[in-house]
Amino acid sequence: MISDIKNVLTIDVEDYFHVAALAKSIKPEDWDAISPRVSTNTLRLLDLFDERNVKATHFVLGWVAERFPELIREIDNRGHEIASHGYSHQLVYTQTPALFEKETRDSKNLLEDIIGKPVQGYRAASYSITRKSLWALDILAELGFKYDSSIFPVAHDNYGIKGSPEFPHILETPNKGTLVEYPLSTYRFMGQAIPVAGGGYFRLYPYWLSRFFYRKINQQAAPFVFYLHPWEIDPDQPRVDASLLSRFRHYNNLDKGYLRFSRLLTDFRFTTMHEKLNELGLFDGATNIAVSY
Ligand SMILES: [Zn+2]
Repeated sequence: MISDIKNVLTIDVEDYFHVAALAKSIKPEDWDAISPRVSTNTLRLLDLFDERNVKATHFVLGWVAERFPELIREIDNRGHEIASHGYSHQLVYTQTPALFEKETRDSKNLLEDIIGKPVQGYRAASYSITRKSLWALDILAELGFKYDSSIFPVAHDNYGIKGSPEFPHILETPNKGTLVEYPLSTYRFMGQAIPVAGGGYFRLYPYWLSRFFYRKINQQAAPFVFYLHPWEIDPDQPRVDASLLSRFRHYNNLDKGYLRFSRLLTDFRFTTMHEKLNELGLFDGATNIAVSY
């Protein structure tokens, strides 16, 4: 074990065909006709978590919860946190506030009906809360979410708020609501915030480099947040025709995903996002200064 610090483990529970990088090739109306792989892959992750005695936060897509409620109950029964990944996996900044409000409310209610517990965390599809969609934070606070983990403090073509805070904080929403924000992890190197939070970055960098970044963050006494999708441990998933860049982002090093991820669980400690925010005292808002974007 490299550090005693408990980091935050998050799984975005969706299938390979929900991904924004493949959205030009597979339309939402086609989803029901595709053979699903999300349950098998998620159960494989759950077995690994049991073996390593690790708990994670699962941001579940409403579309998946509606079709596989027994999978969501299984995640919950095994002691993990259930949070929301919205319903339709459409980018927030392409939606109207009214549409976003409806689908976010519906997917929160759906998950709460399945597990019989409040759902307190939210993560947007493809981290799509950006400067164009800060209004979504008001809606999340109004719907009763306690925390959000959608903001990537980097410059990227599809997401990110460059220069935003890199560690968990309380934010003031545009309409003066409050919400805890847990940004996706970056490592500051030569003045640049390098995205290191998992997913495609974890597949892109050699494992020793990811481990170097995480160790450095933990040496600063800070926890990092890691995300993975169930399809990232599934090298046998059907290949979809998409642009060269999208195919690279989606398929790069899929065959190494499972082993790399199990090494990560050996080298670092993890817990759920809710437990970490509790530990950091961030749910006791009165004592903290709110950041506005
Ligand atoms: Zn997603």
